[in-house]
Amino acid sequence: MLFICRDDKEMRVYCPHCRAKALVRSSQFQSDTVRELYCDCTNSKCLSRFVMSLSHKHDVQPPLEKMNGMLEEMLRALPHDQRQALISNFNR
Ligand SMILES: [Zn+2]
Repeated sequence: MLFICRDDKEMRVYCPHCRAKALVRSSQFQSDTVRELYCDCTNSKCLSRFVMSLSHKHDVQPPLEKMNGMLEEMLRALPHDQRQALISNFNR
């Protein structure tokens, strides 16, 4: 396991060679969704330095603004009577 989230606020990086905790010393922009992390292993018997890639893979839940747009598009694609029936069900 190379990355692990201990809670919602902290992510740890582990050395791919000895599995000890590693420190991210710097990072470099690759694209809007990819960043390279320059890491140092903290194990005194290893001391490897390595680069990892952190990237956005996919959304579990899209941003609210995008989701609202998707729902609006889906509603508009429905025939008028079905759209009205659906909306009236939500207003109950
Ligand atoms: Zn190591």
